[in-house]
Amino acid sequence: MPKVAIIGSGFSSFSAASTLAAKGIDVHIFEKNETVGGRSRQFSESGFKFDMGPSWYWMPEIFERFFNNFGHSASDFYELKKLDPSFKIFFGKKDALDIPAEFDDLVELFEQTERGAGDSLRRFMREAEFKYNISMQDLIFKPGLSIFELMDPKIFKGAFKLQLLQSFHKHVRKYFTHPKLIAIMEFPVLFLGSIPKKTPALYSLMNYAGLNLGTWYPMGGFVKVIDGMRQVAEGLGVKVHTSEPVTKLITKNHNISRVLANGNSMDVDAVIGSADYHHIENSLLDNGLQSYSKDYWDSRSMSPSCLIFYIGVNKKLKNITHHNLFFHTDIEKHSSQIHTKPEWPTDPLFYVCCPSKADETVAPVGSENLFFLMPIAAGLEDSEATRAHYFDMIIEKFEDITEQSIKDNIIYSKSYCINDFKNDYNAYKGNAYGLANTINQTANLKPKIKSKKVDNLFFSGQLTVPGPGVPPSIISGEISANELLKQFKL
Ligand SMILES: Cc1cc2nc3c(=O)[nH]c(=O)nc-3n(C[C@H](O)[C@H](O)[C@H](O)COP(=O)(O)OP(=O)(O)OC[C@H]3O[C@@H](n4cnc5c(N)ncnc54)[C@H](O)[C@@H]3O)c2cc1C
Repeated sequence: MPKVAIIGSGFSSFSAASTLAAKGIDVHIFEKNETVGGRSRQFSESGFKFDMGPSWYWMPEIFERFFNNFGHSASDFYELKKLDPSFKIFFGKKDALDIPAEFDDLVELFEQTERGAGDSLRRFMREAEFKYNISMQDLIFKPGLSIFELMDPKIFKGAFKLQLLQSFHKHVRKYFTHPKLIAIMEFPVLFLGSIPKKTPALYSLMNYAGLNLGTWYPMGGFVKVIDGMRQVAEGLGVKVHTSEPVTKLITKNHNISRVLANGNSMDVDAVIGSADYHHIENSLLDNGLQSYSKDYWDSRSMSPSCLIFYIGVNKKLKNITHHNLFFHTDIEKHSSQIHTKPEWPTDPLFYVCCPSKADETVAPVGSENLFFLMPIAAGLEDSEATRAHYFDMIIEKFEDITEQSIKDNIIYSKSYCINDFKNDYNAYKGNAYGLANTINQTANLKPKIKSKKVDNLFFSGQLTVPGPGVPPSIISGEISANELLKQFKL
């Protein structure tokens, strides 16, 4: 039975592992940390359970598809709750919009904000739905190895409508003029990607995914998804080795023959690197076996990293919902400080998640679980003093805008930033979500899922196709495993 080692234990890892194990491959996952899940781990402190990474559960059908592939359903492992409102955007004090879960209500809200915008939203979404469907059916599962994959007649026919060459910035402004509506449409691009001017209009499919298909929450937190995926993988025979960092990939004739992890050695037939691409190529392989040069990585534009605060407060909070965006400031300025001239933001926008609004298991009775996230440029100098400065700044802003005090009620707080991303995940420049979704880093232009120099080395995860985010990472694991299976002719 062929033996495959997978480096890392994030979503793409469990997806790849299950796909391989279902075909009879002997799969071993090596994870450097004590717990699995990668960027989606959870920790418990003072009665609070903090999800460390993802909090927006979009595109539920991709999760369901994974579980269905192996004879399960997501509901075998966790309960999904649809959030309503989906999220709230604060534009200032006493100036906020609740974004309703029902599309007709959203149309109404757009119409009230700008005359004619209700109809514009319907038109915008019809087009976004087309992009979403064609991407899901024909584009997203392509391995991105050859330009000929895009010669599929359906993709070719729809290519014009996919608007790969038009900017998201321009696209949104064709439909809406009110700055609040523009902010609602642009926020997914800003948080996960790049500046709207550099993002292809194709990504309006994210608006369809978020605003039409709904924002969901797995009760118990995102860790439940990871737990479920681990159970599926282990049920298929996958062995998970935690606290076992891979330190070296031993090659012979451009093939990996052995994996060294935590002082032990294992003979393998192939490897999937589901940890950060740059780390695997540059820290684990001998010189000369890298597919991409230093210049290549230096020239990549990364999506934002972030400064996070996990906070427990011993009182219930008013005026906020589960997901809250604080867009009270100059969005263009903050995003240029992330993407154009990387520096710490002068007046940052931020995001606050309060999962205890939907789930009483994540905080003690009468308390709230808060996750503050401020997007920043990857690669910035990170220090305790800087973190403390922004902690005071955004807590004060939060108190002012939501009209309540929390500072004296904070009973637990922990920060997480660039140095932690590097130490915990070997993340290049301390990135949080991989590469920015710019036009020259989309589809076939992402780092390849198969090494160009090592015949039995494959990659998966947010730095490969289809890109950052939990659903794309799940898909990338499946794509990578299927490419590997082709090699074994299974
Ligand atoms: C703060 C934050 C918020 C996010 N919010 C959302 C959201 O709301 N919705 C959404 O869909 N997505 C979100 N994302 C993105 C999403 O979490 C990621 O795209 C996804 O989890 C990446 O999965 P992955 O398979 O690439 O693996 P990763 O999660 O990157 O895991 C890689 C693993 O490899 C391990 N590793 C590294 N080096 C080694 C080694 N040498 N040996 C062994 N193991 C190693 C690491 O420890 C890690 O466990 C968020 C990400 C972050 C950081």
